[in-house]
Amino acid sequence: MQTLQKRDQSVIWHPFSPLKNMPEPIPIVKGEGVYIIDESGNKYIDGISSWWVNIHGHAHPYIAEKIYKQALQLEHVIFAGFTHYPAVELAERLLPILPGKFSKIFYSDNGSTAAEVAIKMAIQYWWNKSNNEAPVKKKILAFEHSYHGDTFGAMSVSERGIFTKAFHNYLFDVVFIDTPTADNIDQLTSFIAANGHEIAGFIYEPLIQGSGGMRMYDAGLMDILLETAKQHEIICIADEVMTGFGRTGKIFASEYMQVKPDIVCLSKGLTGGTMALGITACNDKIVDAFTTDDRLKTFFHGHSFTANPLACSAALASLDLLQREECKASIKNICEQHSNFLKVLNQKHSPVVKNIRQTGTIIAFEISIGKDEYLNTVNKDFSRLMMQQGVYLRPLGNTVYIMSPYCITTEELQKVYRALLGWILLIE
Ligand code: PLP
Repeated sequence: MQTLQKRDQSVIWHPFSPLKNMPEPIPIVKGEGVYIIDESGNKYIDGISSWWVNIHGHAHPYIAEKIYKQALQLEHVIFAGFTHYPAVELAERLLPILPGKFSKIFYSDNGSTAAEVAIKMAIQYWWNKSNNEAPVKKKILAFEHSYHGDTFGAMSVSERGIFTKAFHNYLFDVVFIDTPTADNIDQLTSFIAANGHEIAGFIYEPLIQGSGGMRMYDAGLMDILLETAKQHEIICIADEVMTGFGRTGKIFASEYMQVKPDIVCLSKGLTGGTMALGITACNDKIVDAFTTDDRLKTFFHGHSFTANPLACSAALASLDLLQREECKASIKNICEQHSNFLKVLNQKHSPVVKNIRQTGTIIAFEISIGKDEYLNTVNKDFSRLMMQQGVYLRPLGNTVYIMSPYCITTEELQKVYRALLGWILLIE
């Protein structure tokens, strides 16, 4: 009998992975709270919440039960012309807590589609406004180093790099600007003022850019930028796919800003990482432009699994857990533990650790050992060495970060910190 790794390698094509010389994937047979457990029974603390999704940890019995009950009742139904309780209840519970005044929820399947829908809505908003003729406002503004997903629209508004290179001829034109700093804010606002008449929408990851390397920026400066964008009638799209549901210490990162978005994209933590679901929430301004007798102004977009009842039930259960005092206390504890660890790291003055930073439950730093080949060689060793310590972390290039489930205990966090400190000692 072949091992699962060998069977996998003959039939599976993994994301972001080379097909040739791909390291053997590790079979995971169980998830339990903060742990993922392999075939040999080894337990690893999931320090990145499996791509930032499992906010309450793995196989949470409360969410599992809700999904099971829903599966016995109604597993799926076409969402054009029909509706169901989980979809409506989730929208009713989310709308009042979203950052701003939102009036409608549009469902899709994942983070990329949530962003894709938002971009399409912003573009079509101006099309509808100009009575179905090509509008002047047609460009999208995005940040350098951004990541909004891997579908074509989402790729277009993401950082152009090795991930997107093969498609550069096919991606639509996007205006990229730097994230705001005290040094560039005047330049950025002048740029938006000069070009705003052509810009339909502005998509951004609020407070922290995830895949671009956990780049954190200032909420006050972002307010200035958003204020300028609003003055020039640019539709502001907050992509909270990563930052949503407590990651930054508040439920949504946009809560740190005074100026609220017109559209918010959600996924990942939305279902506690159990089911694939995307949400694009819109305010009245957007909804009004689509509320018309003109059939040509309809938003012609949908997916087979739009508003899947199992996923909506999972999201309702995840929201229940997130709103419990116990979860709020855990988020607070992670924020405090991280800020203590940040001080420890700073006091170490390690020559290889740079730019130590934190936003809420996310802590990150850069490793700088002055070798070009770092990305490929050290990354592999890093994950292996960490796993030997019972911790799973997956760096983004030279950026090492922790983004654990909220159920992680102080002792488990200390274990992650100890493993990291041990590794830093090793490479110094
Ligand atoms: N937007 C942001 C901010 C993300 O971080 C991601 C994924 O990392 C996405 C969109 C894409 O989400 P998905 O991987 O579910 O398509």
